[in-house]
Amino acid sequence: MAPRIAACIGRVPPSQAPDLRATFESMPLPVLEADEYQLSEGEAIAARMRRWDAGQSPGPYTMELYPTMTCNIDCVFCDTTYRKGKQHGELTAEDYWKLLDEAAEMGVRRVFILGGGEPMVRRDVTPELMRRIKNYGMEGHLATNGTLFNDRIIDQIIESCWDELHFSLDAPDRATNDFLRGSKGTFDKVSQVMSRIHARKHFRAQRGVQDAPRMLIHAVVTNKNYRMFSDMVRFAHALGCYRVNFDYIIAYRPEQHALKLNEAERAQVPALAREAIKLAEQLGLETTLDHFLHESTMDRGEMVFDQSGPEDVAHAPCLNPWYYLVVQPDGSTSPCCVITGTGNNVREGLGEVWRSRDGSYFGDLRRNMQAKVMTDLCRNCSQSIIARNDYIREHLRD
Ligand code: SF4
Repeated sequence: MAPRIAACIGRVPPSQAPDLRATFESMPLPVLEADEYQLSEGEAIAARMRRWDAGQSPGPYTMELYPTMTCNIDCVFCDTTYRKGKQHGELTAEDYWKLLDEAAEMGVRRVFILGGGEPMVRRDVTPELMRRIKNYGMEGHLATNGTLFNDRIIDQIIESCWDELHFSLDAPDRATNDFLRGSKGTFDKVSQVMSRIHARKHFRAQRGVQDAPRMLIHAVVTNKNYRMFSDMVRFAHALGCYRVNFDYIIAYRPEQHALKLNEAERAQVPALAREAIKLAEQLGLETTLDHFLHESTMDRGEMVFDQSGPEDVAHAPCLNPWYYLVVQPDGSTSPCCVITGTGNNVREGLGEVWRSRDGSYFGDLRRNMQAKVMTDLCRNCSQSIIARNDYIREHLRD
């Protein structure tokens, strides 16, 4: 097993950063480009994409893992139909250790664990997977409903310098949040976990230890909570978060359509978003509220892509197939969480699945993207993915 990086490095100013190159070089994580660790995320991904253009096949920069579709709560807007009880055909713990070893070999830099269901339901996988991710020196993110944390997991997260925790929380008040999350007691549990982590970080910061993990809140916007943008920003700030991600509900079932905003409510949204953006700026918090300033960028389902320019990697309408890999609980793959489960299974071997070849899922996807041919499902793409693509493109066209 590779040596652990003993100090959290996320927030250390470059001038004070310890020289970690020796540590990285002694790890079984191959440095793809000698200088990659000196680059920003956008520069590093752009460098890997240039290597694709040069006929090489660098590994994904980010890998998203969904350990399970089972969940312990019952959110009203959830699109996971079978989330109760034991699932069949999910990757085993051994499958995950092998997958992570392969990912390290291929130079994956960030692993994002999320659901699907609630990742912490997989007690046999998620905590140990998090430990191994940090042992490999990768950046670790976890999205969670926060209701299944205990002291041991909080200790591990703090001591291993886990990088980011994304908590699902839909309102800064108990009644609204627990209604939307479909389970009483959810608000109290999550806010207690976040408070405890915030307090531990504060205490450690006073002793000069850097402040991992960063915390953020994910909130699904419905007609029950759209007036709470500013209150959510205040609440997130009080709990020590650096960001709040707001996403408008995607409705599949009648009870979900009933949570969508009517015309009069939608008309109020830009002003509420503007007010909350101003507050977030004062408090130094990041948000996705820009998407709520115009009705056209609030909804999902009608995304339009720029399909102009030459047929090369830099001008592909979506860059995800070259740097992003999603692995579902059953091992099936995709380049994003929107067109899930359509690619080959990682049980075939991660390198085999990821590298381009004629007739392979990712090979065809990349060829089609360069030819500006997208899947129908791409219409459901999210503003956050588009924004991340735009950020990388800035570096790609330098
Ligand atoms: S849904 Fe979005 S991220 Fe996924 S392949 Fe289509 S454009 Fe790319």
